[in-house]
Amino acid sequence: MRNFFYRLSAKFNRFMAGRYGSDQLNMALLITAIVFDILNLFIGYYVFSFLSTIVIVFAVFRMLSRNIPRRYEENQKFLKIWGRIKMLPKFHIYRCKNCNQKIRVPRKGGKRVEIRCPKCGNTFIKRI
Ligand SMILES: [Zn+2]
Repeated sequence: MRNFFYRLSAKFNRFMAGRYGSDQLNMALLITAIVFDILNLFIGYYVFSFLSTIVIVFAVFRMLSRNIPRRYEENQKFLKIWGRIKMLPKFHIYRCKNCNQKIRVPRKGGKRVEIRCPKCGNTFIKRI
């Protein structure tokens, strides 16, 4: 029996050799599929089950893909976007009324703060 599992795992390793495998984007895809499945369970709307299937097929396709640079690039893009999403609750984004420059200010729990635009030096007061 042990030998059977050993051979099975060797076969699997041979099958996966040269293929991309899993990464953070794939984990996120699988979690998304689970969320769609849970939504489907509660709302019973076939669209969620359909979306879940598409997401899983895409995740499996990425795992078995031999185009490793392309998959790596996708994962890097995902990590960049995810990093920005994670930062959102910690910052306010304001736009300078003078030069339209975007200014990122850390949240301070409703304090009034004078913000100076780094581009044109215009100042304005905001509650952040
Ligand atoms: Zn400005």
